Amino acid sequence: MPSPPIPSAQRPDSPALIDQYGRVATDLRVSVTDHCNLRCTYCMPADGLEWLPRDELLSTAELQRLLHIAVTQLGIAEIRFTGGEPLLRRDLPELVSFAAGLHPRPDLSVTTNGLGLKHKAKVLADAGLDRINVSLDSVDRVAYAAITRRDRLHDVLDGLAAAVAAGLAPVKVNAVLQRGVNDDQAADLLGFCLANGYELRFIEQMPLDADHRWNRASMITAEEILDRLRERFALTPDARPRGAAPAQRWLVDGGPASVGVIASVTKPFCGDCDRVRLTADGQLRNCLFATGETDLRRLLRTGGDDVAIAHQWRDAIWVKKAGHGIGAAGFQQPARPMSAIGG
Ligand code: SAM
Ligand code: SF4
Repeated sequence: MPSPPIPSAQRPDSPALIDQYGRVATDLRVSVTDHCNLRCTYCMPADGLEWLPRDELLSTAELQRLLHIAVTQLGIAEIRFTGGEPLLRRDLPELVSFAAGLHPRPDLSVTTNGLGLKHKAKVLADAGLDRINVSLDSVDRVAYAAITRRDRLHDVLDGLAAAVAAGLAPVKVNAVLQRGVNDDQAADLLGFCLANGYELRFIEQMPLDADHRWNRASMITAEEILDRLRERFALTPDARPRGAAPAQRWLVDGGPASVGVIASVTKPFCGDCDRVRLTADGQLRNCLFATGETDLRRLLRTGGDDVAIAHQWRDAIWVKKAGHGIGAAGFQQPARPMSAIGG
């Protein structure tokens, strides 16, 4: 993949991860694997997706080294482990525990499809995990199996309950709606989450599918999601400040319960973005939609010291684009699918 342009010599001499538009990256999304035990239609193909070569995946020690640099030298205050399916990586508790021991201690979370969480929630909480997001697009078994291509709804429900029992709070649920598939189930999902004390957030489907079939016209927009929820619930804007959080929150039936909608496509929040992503093979991405990457793995494996790695990391953020440009002329979907970037 092409490297980003040579950074301008004008980058200020600051330890933080700042870009040319004044944004500061403090939230690191670490993809620990590109493997997954589901095949969600908006993310992965049914089969045929090539895995990253095993020897290119970062080892536990390499990941720990980058986490240490990120927190102690670059101002990363929040780390989210994702994938692929992060629970498939056996050293996840070890990585969480390492990150929890860093100073200043970062906020630690995981985004997971929830399979196997029943057995891992307590181990992760004991390792220092603060919060968890579980992806669940339908509470109807048939629709769930159609979306994920696996009949595993019961595992996710068990995983959610285990997360609560382990004290991971709040437990958030992420949902993506697809037209003609589960777009009639928004209110059912919200009812389920309200009944169980989970915080639901809908995410507009983005052009990050491995099949490159995303189509703006058939995407369910944030406005449509809200319309469908209003058929059953009263929604009022949540007055709490949003900060860099991408979800616009609504109080349900007067509160205190709320629901979030992330309008990544129709109302991009790029101007407030504080994220940077590290792929499982050690490539730094300054945006979900970046078409260039910075190869930290090579630097790690050719004897680069911490100062050199931190310097390259800052350079990578400095050239972050102002916005993702979905819908603009010349927009190019990244070659990597979401499962290999880390959502
Ligand atoms: N496997 C884990 C999971 O599903 O939670 C973590 C990785 S997954 C890529 C992270 C999140 O990205 C999930 O909530 C998933 O629904 C979301 N996602 C995947 N592809 C997407 C797309 N094309 N548009 C919007 N969200 C997407
Ligand atoms: Fe796997 Fe998550 Fe992608 Fe679904 S969204 S295929 S669970 S990586």
